[in-house]
Amino acid sequence: MRIDIITCLPKLLESPFSDSILKRAQEKKLVEVAIHDLRAYSLDKHKSTDDYAFGGGAGMVMGIEPIHRCISFLQSERQYDEVIYLSPDGELLTQALANQLSLKKNFILLCGHYKGVDERVREHLITREVSIGDYVLSGGELAAAVVSDAMIRLIPGVLNDESSALTDSFQDGLVAPPVYTRPAEYNGWKVPDVLLSGHEAKINEWRHEESVKRTKERRPKLL
Ligand code: SAH
Repeated sequence: MRIDIITCLPKLLESPFSDSILKRAQEKKLVEVAIHDLRAYSLDKHKSTDDYAFGGGAGMVMGIEPIHRCISFLQSERQYDEVIYLSPDGELLTQALANQLSLKKNFILLCGHYKGVDERVREHLITREVSIGDYVLSGGELAAAVVSDAMIRLIPGVLNDESSALTDSFQDGLVAPPVYTRPAEYNGWKVPDVLLSGHEAKINEWRHEESVKRTKERRPKLL
């Protein structure tokens, strides 16, 4: 998988990809992530990427030209399966969408800022819009990191124990059961006996029951 992220604030995206699972996925060459500074594609002498909104009103709008130049340059280098604009009114990111996207290969993720991007970008230059939830962020960078993380961890080989993605919440329409580690008793608080029993079938049954119980309590719509 290759992910090209277009942003006017590249620094915001440095740390999410430089640690832990996302870092290892890149080291193992399972994913390549490239961050592109939109300012480099601005023809303006101040390298600005935004301007006042036509019709007036508060807030700047990101202009189409640098975005178009950047997307066109990337598309001249390789084919992209999706050009995604991160947007609060886009398709909601769910585990199902993450699964679906993780089967594709090359992505451009476009991060907006300020009031968002000129509508013509959305009409003509992108293939899809994704939101990470019904709330408004200051920019698309955190959303791009969230979407990337959700996709990357599903690529076979990224997680050490592949079954661990399969037993995560939402993967099978249920939320995950509770998990515990040593010590078996802390401060008088005990780990359920069944988990210490070594009886695999019983443990699996208990985990399934707990998943169903939790799903009923927390995400009844999934059932
Ligand atoms: N004026 C816009 C919000 C702009 S927020 C509106 O009311 O809809 C600035 C940028 O942050 C957006 O262009 C988008 O790229 C990003 N963003 C904000 N909230 C987001 C969300 N929930 N999911 C994905 N991206 C989001």
